[in-house]
Amino acid sequence: MDPKDLGEWNTELLNIAPGVYAYIQAKGGWFINNAGVIVGENDVIVVDSLANSKRTETFIREIRKTTSNPFSYLINTHHHVDHTWTNHMFFPAKTICHTRCREETLKEIDINPYLYTQIFPSLDVEGARATPQDISFEKEVILHQRTREGIREIRLVYVGPAHTVSDVFVHLPQEKVVFCGDLLFAEPCTPFALMGSFPGYIRAIDLLIELRADVYVPGHGPLSRGRRALEKAKEYLSFVRREAWKRFEEGMSVEEAIREIELGEYENWSERERIVGNVERAYRELRGEPVEIPLPELLEILARMMSYRKEVSG
Ligand SMILES: [Zn+2]
Repeated sequence: MDPKDLGEWNTELLNIAPGVYAYIQAKGGWFINNAGVIVGENDVIVVDSLANSKRTETFIREIRKTTSNPFSYLINTHHHVDHTWTNHMFFPAKTICHTRCREETLKEIDINPYLYTQIFPSLDVEGARATPQDISFEKEVILHQRTREGIREIRLVYVGPAHTVSDVFVHLPQEKVVFCGDLLFAEPCTPFALMGSFPGYIRAIDLLIELRADVYVPGHGPLSRGRRALEKAKEYLSFVRREAWKRFEEGMSVEEAIREIELGEYENWSERERIVGNVERAYRELRGEPVEIPLPELLEILARMMSYRKEVSG
């Protein structure tokens, strides 16, 4: 694909199955996540909130063009703040997530959203707030939503640690739709494994492929019909892991490895600076270190990543 074609998609609410919508935000970069809308006979279930009130107001305006039903449930696919920061704007919805997601959201309450702007200066955090979820689960939950045609099954399945420790995907078997959360960064958005696990991430993607859905809604990036975007994301993760492994074996530091790895086709993907966080994760795994990274260390890694971004964008 020509690199200039990689950025061609818009922010819009797309009807992907009867009563089911994907809210895709262009261009899927840092904190610019996608979401989902599942309309029942008397309610609306939303998948993920957004990073700030302005974006959420636009999103809710789009929802209101299709239905006036009240919000019943809001599902958080994982704890990252772009997917949870405006949970409070979907009142009276009850929020649902994995136990680890709720634990991480509780930690977020003590963190001022403006802290993030030290690393991401252009990030708008107006109206951003951590709101702990109402319902949490360990493995799997099924929502049975009444529709005009009957009952719709909505499966929430935990597959972490993968992108983070708290990932769930939302599967609608009748509609053959999956809301992947950040288990899928669709090309040209670069996958991000710093806060998760390479083997877990790759396993989760295999599981998503096995569902044989018609539509996979990524957490970031354009809508994916069929499995191609999943395969591309898996290829990227396998590539990074392999390249990091080689250099770890040669005794190189993380910094040296990052300088040496040739990104090839992934150089044209957006947020290519994620290579810094991804190699960091791969090295931690090779050293047998735990998934959790203390906040000061995490901020330091993110800062290194952003200086790499400045460097490569000239
Ligand atoms: Zn995420």
